[in-house]
Amino acid sequence: MRMETELAKANMDRVEMRDPYKVYNKFSLNDFSSKTGQFDWKSFLEKVSIKNQDSVLVSQPLYFTTLSKMLSTESIDNWKVYLKWHLVSSMAPFLSSDFDNENFDFYGKTMRGQQEQKPRWKRVLGVVDGAVGMQLGKMYSDKYFTPKAKERMQELVNNLQVAFEARINNLDWMGDDTKQKAKEKLHSFIKKIGYPDKWKNYDGLTISRNSFIENILASNQFDYEFEVSKLGKPVDKSEWGMTPPTVNAYYNPVFNEIVFPAGILQYPFFDLQTDDASIYGAIGAVIGHEMTHGFDDQGCQYAADGNLKNWWTDKDKKNFDAKTKMVKEQFDHYTILDNKHVNGALTLGENIADLGGITIAYDAFKMTEQGKSTTPIDGFTPDQRFFLSWAQVWRNNIRDEEAAQRLVTDPHSPGIFRCNGPLSNFNPFYSAFNVKEGDKMYKPENERAKVW
Ligand SMILES: [Zn+2]
Repeated sequence: MRMETELAKANMDRVEMRDPYKVYNKFSLNDFSSKTGQFDWKSFLEKVSIKNQDSVLVSQPLYFTTLSKMLSTESIDNWKVYLKWHLVSSMAPFLSSDFDNENFDFYGKTMRGQQEQKPRWKRVLGVVDGAVGMQLGKMYSDKYFTPKAKERMQELVNNLQVAFEARINNLDWMGDDTKQKAKEKLHSFIKKIGYPDKWKNYDGLTISRNSFIENILASNQFDYEFEVSKLGKPVDKSEWGMTPPTVNAYYNPVFNEIVFPAGILQYPFFDLQTDDASIYGAIGAVIGHEMTHGFDDQGCQYAADGNLKNWWTDKDKKNFDAKTKMVKEQFDHYTILDNKHVNGALTLGENIADLGGITIAYDAFKMTEQGKSTTPIDGFTPDQRFFLSWAQVWRNNIRDEEAAQRLVTDPHSPGIFRCNGPLSNFNPFYSAFNVKEGDKMYKPENERAKVW
C-alpha cells in the first residue's frame, strides 16, 4: 500500500491529464534511459518484443522517474510482494470463487456499494465482448441492427451536421477565419455507424475448454501482439475503439471521428418506430454530443486532420475560454450526497458536449415536419416530447459509494446534472414547459451558458 501510494502521488491528477500537451512528452530512448537510470529500457523493450525504436512518448514522466528512484530504495523482496499482489489482484475475477469473492468484497462492495455480484452469465458476456468483441459484434449486428436502421442513422448524423454548420455561421463571438476552420473540421468527421466495414480477424488466438484463466491470458497476449504489430505501419483509421454491442459512443480527436456502435442504436436512444421528437431528443443529442467533443476545451486543440495544432485566432480562443469558464463555474456549484461538489474542471469537456449536443439536436429537430408542428401526442407537444426523451436517457439509479467515487474519477457529471444542467441553460426548454422564476430549474437569462 505504501509503495502503491508513493507511485500514485507521482501521477498527474485527472484535471491535469485532460491537457493534451502535458501528456505528450517525446524523448529519445537514450535521453529517457538516462533520466530513469535504474530501469534498463533497452532490455525491457527487447523482452516485450518491441524492436528498432529510438524514441518513446511518455504520458507521465514523473511516474517513471519516481519508479526509477524506488527501484533502488525499495528491497527486491518488497518488489516481489508488490508485483505478486498486482498479478493476483488483476487476475482474481477469472480465478476460483475464493479469489473472485474476495475481489468483489473490496472492489464491488466496499468501493462501489454493490450489494451482490452481477449474475455470472452477464460477467462472462462482458469477458467475451472484451476478448473477441468484434466477432460477438458481428452476430449482434446481424440480429439487432438492420440496414434500414443504419440508413436512418446516417441521415440523422447528416442532419445534425447541417444544423451544426448553421450554428457556427451564426456565432456572434467567432471571427470568419476561425469559423472557416471550424467548418472544415466539422466536414472532415469520419462517421462510423453500427459496426465496422471490415471485421477484425482473430486468427492466432486459441480458445479452449481447458481453463478460463488460460483463455484470458491467451486473449491478453493476442491483444498485446496486435498492438505491437502496428509499430512502424501507417495508422489504420478504419479501426474501432468500441465493439458493436457497446451501449456507448465516442469522439476520437486524433482520427477526428464520431463512432456509434449498434449497442446504443436501440431504445431508448434510437427506435425506428417512434416519432422524430423522441429520436432527436435521445440519439440526436448523443450525435450532437460526440460532434461537440470535436469542439470542446480539449477537442478544439486538434485540427481537422487529427493533429494537435492550433487553428484559432487568439481573440476567438479568448472568447471561447470565457464561454466555457461559465460552464465550469456552473457545474462547480452542483452538489450530491450532502454537499459533495461536482468538479467543473474535470467534467468541462463532457458538459460542453452535453450542452452543444442538445442545442444542435434541437435545431436539427426543428427542420423536420414534426419539429415545425404543434400537434401533441399523448398530451405532449413536439418540443415537450423532445425534452422528455432527453430526460429518459438519463434515468438511472446509483449507490452512494459509486456516486462518490465517480465524482472524483469520472469526467462525466452525475446523470441528474447531465439532464438538468444543459436544459436550465437552454431557452427552448423554458418555452416548452413555461419555466418561470422560482421554478427549480430556472436561471436568470444572463446566467444561462451558451457555447456552440
Ligand atoms: Zn462525451
